[in-house]
Amino acid sequence: MILTCTRCEGEGSIYASRYGGNDPDVWRVGPCEDCGGSGNMVCEARGCNENAVAFNDDGEALCEDCIFEWTLSGADLEDVA
Ligand SMILES: [Zn+2]
Ligand SMILES: [Zn+2]
Repeated sequence: MILTCTRCEGEGSIYASRYGGNDPDVWRVGPCEDCGGSGNMVCEARGCNENAVAFNDDGEALCEDCIFEWTLSGADLEDVA
């Protein structure tokens, strides 16, 4: 499973409208900067450009590898609490 970009909601493009909300009169502004136009959420870990698959408890979207690393690094903290 790959998360969809929260900024463009998987569209890959940013749209604008005159009135906002449910205004049907929208136009394409350009490719989404957050996902580079792919519509997929990109891992928020520094220097990582993999597709994000899940959010961690801090609300960061991470790829499979980074989720795994994050889980390992958080394991010690959970034992204390
Ligand atoms: Zn996007
Ligand atoms: Zn990652």
